[in-house]
Amino acid sequence: MKVNLLRPRRLRKNEALRSMVRENTVSIKDFIYPIFVVPGQKVKEEISSLPGCYHFSVDEALKEVEKAAKVGIPAVEIFGLPEYKDDIGSSAWDMTSPVQQAMKAIKKEFPHMLIVGDVCLCQYTNSGHCGKLCGQEVDNDPTLELLAKTAVSQAEAGADIIAPSDMMDGRIAAIREALDKEKYENTSIMSYAVKYASAYYGPFRDAANSAPQFGNRKGYQMDPANSREAMKEVELDLAEGADIIMVKPALAYLDIVHQVREKINRPVAVYNVSGEYAMVKAAAANGWIDEKRIVMESMMCMKRAGADIIISYHAIDVAKWLKEEENNV
Ligand SMILES: [Zn+2]
Repeated sequence: MKVNLLRPRRLRKNEALRSMVRENTVSIKDFIYPIFVVPGQKVKEEISSLPGCYHFSVDEALKEVEKAAKVGIPAVEIFGLPEYKDDIGSSAWDMTSPVQQAMKAIKKEFPHMLIVGDVCLCQYTNSGHCGKLCGQEVDNDPTLELLAKTAVSQAEAGADIIAPSDMMDGRIAAIREALDKEKYENTSIMSYAVKYASAYYGPFRDAANSAPQFGNRKGYQMDPANSREAMKEVELDLAEGADIIMVKPALAYLDIVHQVREKINRPVAVYNVSGEYAMVKAAAANGWIDEKRIVMESMMCMKRAGADIIISYHAIDVAKWLKEEENNV
């Protein structure tokens, strides 16, 4: 009889064995749940391109945070639609804007919930670009000061982690310096260090009303063709004081997540973006895929690629499904 020394199937015999040798796990503790806040009261409007996600006024956002806290999600990331827009995006650092108001209210009601603040100007500028313009271009250095101001206002409102998503050069250092100057030296920075100019952001722009009024963001976001450049962005942001490095989008960029994970000793986050979510939701609504299995497999693959932290609109469902799995064992 032929002796087969290597039979990988031996370790796949049953679930107990499979789970014993499983190399990666998904835990709800890995997740950050994004929430969109808008002006007003008693507002809860579903975002058409992101089914299951809503625009919430601050009072309603608190109910959503409570839901997230109940299922064990440790962190929420707050995005906002402001009351007004102008050339420099000054509602981004207005303490009466929905984002700052939501942060204050969440910190008060749910002191253990980590608050992540998205720092960018595209939701707040008339142009829909991520900074102050000079002609048709975003003017990098004058924008840094505005981003720093926004970061400080969010720290003041209660943000534990500042997450700049603008992709301006030098913004991590500018934000770090401004936070430290205002005695927020213990507020972390999660840098959207590797953010590609991606079509996967489409539904988010509806959600955040932040589509550029002209042109595109290719002048500051990364070219999807590049991976060496990703490491350059990561190195710069680490040198400037980033505590966590993010890669965005997630699924089409897992090779980049893996490269970053191999090279750095800081936590790595991925953003499972709106387009990824919307595709799953649309296919599931048509009965073409098994939503739960597709989502859980995708989350596991992000972990396998090297992500420590996953920002996802699926977070509440993931929590529910993880609980179900736990109960089935
Ligand atoms: Zn932006």
